[in-house]
Amino acid sequence: MVDRELTCKACEGTGMLADDEGWQYNCSVCRGEGVLPVNAAKQSAEIMDVDENNRLLD
Ligand SMILES: [Zn+2]
Repeated sequence: MVDRELTCKACEGTGMLADDEGWQYNCSVCRGEGVLPVNAAKQSAEIMDVDENNRLLD
């Protein structure tokens, strides 16, 4: 359960994001690490924004 909290929701732990044209780039939320400090995970405004964008692309 803790692991799940720490996984970056924006990139799902991969550390990479891809836009709708297939360009990949380091996740700006976790800086390419794929995981977040617990405190950062709870500062959700920015994270939620990226997460929503990621879903919209799908
Ligand atoms: Zn990430």
